[in-house]
Amino acid sequence: MTTLLPFPRLRSSASAHAESVKRNQLALADAYGRVATDLRVSLTDRCNLRCAYCMPPEGLDWLPGADVLTDEEMVRLITIGVKRLGITTVRLTGGEPLLRKNLELLVADIAALSPAPEIALTTNGIGLAARAEKLAVAGLKRINISLDTLDPETFVRLSRRRRLPDVLAGIAAARAAGLNPVKINTVLMRGINDHEAFDLLRWAMSEQVQLRFIEQMPLDPQHGWKRDEMITADEIRQRLSRHVELVEDPEDARTRGSAPAELFRVAGTGYSVGIIASVSKPFCGACDRVRLTADGQIRNCLFARTESDLRTPLRSGASEEEIADRWVAAVASKQPGHGINDPSFLQPDRPMSAIGG
Ligand code: SAM
Ligand code: SF4
Repeated sequence: MTTLLPFPRLRSSASAHAESVKRNQLALADAYGRVATDLRVSLTDRCNLRCAYCMPPEGLDWLPGADVLTDEEMVRLITIGVKRLGITTVRLTGGEPLLRKNLELLVADIAALSPAPEIALTTNGIGLAARAEKLAVAGLKRINISLDTLDPETFVRLSRRRRLPDVLAGIAAARAAGLNPVKINTVLMRGINDHEAFDLLRWAMSEQVQLRFIEQMPLDPQHGWKRDEMITADEIRQRLSRHVELVEDPEDARTRGSAPAELFRVAGTGYSVGIIASVSKPFCGACDRVRLTADGQIRNCLFARTESDLRTPLRSGASEEEIADRWVAAVASKQPGHGINDPSFLQPDRPMSAIGG
């Protein structure tokens, strides 16, 4: 008599892969229970604008070309982050990331990773009109575009370049390419563009893009940030409230997670505006970010005063395990908060544009 043995069930290759990722995976955890899953990669420290809160008119001493990671090196490190360290979101930023020539190819390489991370871009929008579609095809999903004013002259005053029409064309192209969400980042500066808060909100509502005001942080190379000159989140809310009723969004409070923006519903509409109170109401306790600079340094916080070098081991043939271990150690020592509000606070040596915002 023949006994029929049960046919062995083949595991699908997807579930086998998920298991092998789990087995190989270390978490980017710190001593305060936070786990970094959101990687911000600065593709360059260079920029074609000179926003007053970010760069001096003459620009900065750019990183030497040989120090900047090649596309291949970037992809190798991002691959380690995604495959071994649990990174689920990769945000490409700078400096101005659209200045990176092969950005579309880089996006396509990251999108091809398995498991595929969500890919986002933070940009000033210059040159985006011609590239948004290609970036979307390559695998870009989300985009944040910086826009501080709708007035061409204020744009020049703020960014020292006459490029407002390029930015607006970039925003329109991002929407047309189906990037979703399209978020607009706005920094208000006292006496320069703070009178435009409501104009920007009205414009964002009509364009159906998500506006988020960001408190100015002490990350400028000129060290010109002054607490009493900063437009605070409360002030932004008060300014907007002269024109519309803002209602705290209970759904947002429940689901906010690590998102830095507090959302306020504009009463009588389905629209919510975000306010990022990085200084006045820090959200470090929920931070899930880690940063890779264009020259291959890991920073566990925007305000960290130390970095961990991954470029040297990468270029001297270290194994993926060794690089991953260094990365894990870099995140493990993350401080509980940025400390801006401590009397002993010291601004980091690198400015925002060289860290990756
Ligand atoms: N060049 C791109 C851009 O402007 O979107 C990406 C890099 S930029 C450093 C990223 C974001 O940081 C921008 O939205 C910019 O407005 C913001 N930013 C720059 N310096 C800042 C500061 N000192 N405080 C708050 N936000 C700042
Ligand atoms: Fe350039 Fe962005 Fe800094 Fe403006 S905020 S100078 S666009 S890096």
